[in-house]
Amino acid sequence: MAFPRTDSIWMNGRQVPWDKATVHVLSHVIHYGSCLFEGIRCYKLPDGSGVFRLRDHVERLFDGCAIYRMKVPYTRSEIETAILETIRANHMEACYIRPFVYRGYESLGVDPTPCPIDAAVAVWSWGDYLGKEAVEKGVDVMVSTWRRMAPDTLPMLAKAGANYMNSQLIKVEALANGYAEGIALDTDGMISEGSGENIFLVRKGTIYTPPLTSAILEGITRRSILQLASDLSLPVVEERLPREMLYIADEVFFAGTAVEIIPVRSVDRVPVGRGVRGEMTSLLQAEFSAITSGRKPDRHHWLTRV
Ligand code: PMP
Repeated sequence: MAFPRTDSIWMNGRQVPWDKATVHVLSHVIHYGSCLFEGIRCYKLPDGSGVFRLRDHVERLFDGCAIYRMKVPYTRSEIETAILETIRANHMEACYIRPFVYRGYESLGVDPTPCPIDAAVAVWSWGDYLGKEAVEKGVDVMVSTWRRMAPDTLPMLAKAGANYMNSQLIKVEALANGYAEGIALDTDGMISEGSGENIFLVRKGTIYTPPLTSAILEGITRRSILQLASDLSLPVVEERLPREMLYIADEVFFAGTAVEIIPVRSVDRVPVGRGVRGEMTSLLQAEFSAITSGRKPDRHHWLTRV
């Protein structure tokens, strides 16, 4: 999808015109994936706009930097302010927000420490990630032949650019085989997550999702669903899940900032349940969108006003 360009991007403390927001080709990040980033949604509300779980996203960004021993030259609150300013500077209502911290231009050894730590925030409009129809009808997915990273290789709790080379293998394999998305297993063969979203299953009235020890990114949408399920008194179990649960589940759905909540209607050509969106999936979609559209009160203070 071509970029719906905006006027400006925040780079190291100032708004820079879209076309001037460039880096040198010999920047460390380009060669070694040395970047931590976030994807955040800003929603249009009846009386303005609200950024979804801003503080939690910025916290995860800083946590990732801590894992990689990168000292961000801005405070969390400066990055939060930069995000809100960039939305305002570009006159956006609903948009996708991409803050990132990366190793810049200085030298190209594997050692990143001589390179500067740069930061930027871009915003653009982004609709339904897997298509509008998918929100109701669901998507067809495959179990990937690629696994997620072993815990002592790349840390999955850090949303690092380099992790997305693994995600790209999963995604491209799925597309090449005619599926919308791939589900990765962890190195023990247990269900992990999609290339860019967490996964949930429903079986006999209970919701299941893999724990942090199944090589997942701790999704903020995932966390929100756990909260909504508790609000609605729906039973949830976080435990390691064998692959075959995918073939006997009544419902399967993905959750993430880009997809929000999206039903999976088949896995490896095996229909999930009756092959249509399930009851719990609909219920959680409805509750999530009621809050993010402002139709229901923001009872957990998830939306920061722009
Ligand atoms: N897992 C991966 C690999 C992701 O890229 C994403 C998207 N950030 C998620 C899970 C979902 O996380 P979130 O709900 O915070 O967007």
